[in-house]
Amino acid sequence: MSARILDGKSLAADIRREIADDAAKLHAATGLAPGLGVVLVGDHPASRSYVTAKEKACAAAGIRSRELTLPAHASRQDILAAVRDLNQDATCDGILVQLPLPDAASEREVIEAIDPAKDVDGFHPVNVGKLVLGLPTFVPCTPQGIVELLRRAAIPLAGAHVVVIGRSSIVGRPLSILLSQKGVDATVTLCHTRTPDVARFTQQADIVIVAAGRPNTLRAEMIRPGAVVVDVGVNRVPDSTRATGYRLVGDVDFEPVAAKAAAITPVPGGVGPLTIAMLLRNTVEAARRQRHPPA
Ligand code: NAP
Repeated sequence: MSARILDGKSLAADIRREIADDAAKLHAATGLAPGLGVVLVGDHPASRSYVTAKEKACAAAGIRSRELTLPAHASRQDILAAVRDLNQDATCDGILVQLPLPDAASEREVIEAIDPAKDVDGFHPVNVGKLVLGLPTFVPCTPQGIVELLRRAAIPLAGAHVVVIGRSSIVGRPLSILLSQKGVDATVTLCHTRTPDVARFTQQADIVIVAAGRPNTLRAEMIRPGAVVVDVGVNRVPDSTRATGYRLVGDVDFEPVAAKAAAITPVPGGVGPLTIAMLLRNTVEAARRQRHPPA
């Protein structure tokens, strides 16, 4: 393997220390620590473990969290009531509804019920619109974390051709908008399942970012030597040698791609830790804006 490993865990640790300093200053200035309200519906193990990891990271950064846990059979009205409760709670500067919801059909309505000023995931249409317009907003955590990771790893984005695989509204699409903004200045190609011959695009890319949710979506023959590869995917594959019965893999065929790439993010320990760090950053930013609104 020749690629430089982009260690998201250690970059995220640096960022979390910076955020803890910001949170402490805000706490000292206003007498109240920044706060995150979390809505968790159901007991899906992956969602539970994501929420626990986020709350642990909040505590370590001096951010309070308030969790509202609802049963899997909670009605749409119950979930909306929980969101309204957090909207009204002055100690909650940010609100996170852990997705997916058991009833996927209600997700849009629930996201739209969040006060846009507390929407630290950046999924509310008002904030998505601001992102598209290049206005200050809450940038979704995973796209923001990827750009932060590349910046801190000194990988130039301005002028780079970046190919993104995946067009979801939480990763690929907002990432493509962020990368093409003035000041970031990448040239972006966005691929999806209807793209004929994805390899034709990835072979020309300086940077390939894969957010497809399928193992081995990016294989070595699909990149040019010296490309930078960011693996966003988190997939559980059966592994009888593990106590859990599974292991986590990304969307990239890691070993052969790492042998050809200049730099690559591992899974786990790549993009994931940056995503959590950006949630903390957005929460402290939400607190700052609500306590010191611009004149
Ligand atoms: P998603 O909503 O399922 O979207 C997947 C996207 O990938 C879709 O746009 C799909 O195209 C496209 N796609 C799938 N297979 C493809 C292929 N073979 N070629 C080209 N495009 C393909 O998934 P998501 O929510 O964006 O998440 C993607 C992955 O990232 C998942 O593994 C998820 O667990 C992971 N994730 C990680 C983090 C983190 O912090 N590390 C955060 C969020 C998500 P169509 O639109 O045409 O169907």
